[in-house]
Amino acid sequence: MVFQLKEQNVDEDDPFERQRRIEWWDQNTLRKSKMMIIGAGALGNETLKNLALLGVGGLFIVDFDTISGSNLSRTVLFRKQDIGREKAAAAAEAIKDLALESSAKVEYFHGDMVWDLGLGVYRRMNVVLSCVDNDEARLATNRACRSVGVPWINAGILGLSGNVMIFGKEGVCYECNVTPEQIEDARSRYDSCESVRKRFLQEEKMPTVQVTSALISALQVQEAIKLIHNQQPAIGKRIAVNGLTNGFLLITLQPLDECLAHGSYENIKELPLSAHENTLEELFLAIEENLGEGVTLDLGRRFILEIRCRYCGKILPLMRPAHRIFDDELICNSCSANTEQHTHSPLERIEGLTSKIDDQTYVKSVSRFSRKEIPNELLGLKLWDLGVPPLHILSAIGANNEQKAFELTADSVKVLGNLISI
Ligand SMILES: [Zn+2]
Ligand SMILES: [Zn+2]
Repeated sequence: MVFQLKEQNVDEDDPFERQRRIEWWDQNTLRKSKMMIIGAGALGNETLKNLALLGVGGLFIVDFDTISGSNLSRTVLFRKQDIGREKAAAAAEAIKDLALESSAKVEYFHGDMVWDLGLGVYRRMNVVLSCVDNDEARLATNRACRSVGVPWINAGILGLSGNVMIFGKEGVCYECNVTPEQIEDARSRYDSCESVRKRFLQEEKMPTVQVTSALISALQVQEAIKLIHNQQPAIGKRIAVNGLTNGFLLITLQPLDECLAHGSYENIKELPLSAHENTLEELFLAIEENLGEGVTLDLGRRFILEIRCRYCGKILPLMRPAHRIFDDELICNSCSANTEQHTHSPLERIEGLTSKIDDQTYVKSVSRFSRKEIPNELLGLKLWDLGVPPLHILSAIGANNEQKAFELTADSVKVLGNLISI
């Protein structure tokens, strides 16, 4: 005998028909959500696939890397013909194709999320999902999300194990529980004295497999769904999974009172300024309109005016943000030609020498300054040339100690594209 089960009012053409049956589910909440996915590798691919199938309406994909053949066993969104393409661009293209929400908007940023992704991007997200493999990016995400009061969910994998950590606007954050080894790992990409970049990095490749990224990403996205629905997300907790033993732990993370990452911008003033179009002078004028004369501006990053060659003391006028300078540029051309060439960082070669020199004697830089202190030639520089990314938020203090944050809001369409309409 054949039973014919028939239910009234079932729209079998609706891709979200089954998930709508979950009691608290609100497809409209998903459709109106904006989520940033940092890292479009193994985890990022899975996370993006999940979000696209669930019907999330706004996805912003961030990655700096390009696709190689070794990625393909863990990246459902990439094909062999994608090798060499930017991960963020290829993922965005595949996700636009896959997204089941007809009004879904997908945008991407190919670049360095630590320095070149403005805080205004974070501010416009409902939740940020981190799918990276390094602590420098995780710590930067943590600070950024915290400063603008946006929750974020970290996912990490190693072998058959992995974990997911959920951080809210307040309470415990990623940095509260970070170990000295993790801090050291994050700093290892920079020269220890000047915080300029190391040219040669020994990137550690994680042992992992697609099943682990699929498993951990599923937990990460499940928490994101619970979070935007306010359905008992595991905020302040770490979900630890051991795939080998099938161990599954839910660990409560402990906040650190003196954690440096806590605190957020109270009020953010939107300015009709752009990082690529406007100068430091124009930013000062706009801030002075709000806070009066005598403001101190915090770039939140170091701009290096000049540096002395560590061998001969010759002045090298760099005039660039520290994060756009490599360690081998701290030595003049003639000394560089005379030193033994090998693949190690030049600073490692002269470690004995640099350790004896006082930091201040060979670097001239600015990061926090008033109009009076800033060299005149900097006032005419475009904000981008000072190291400020589009749609960034900068903080300033007035003469009366009033603190305020200012956003370069004129960049919002350029950075966020179609996401602006959600
Ligand atoms: Zn903290
Ligand atoms: Zn020299």
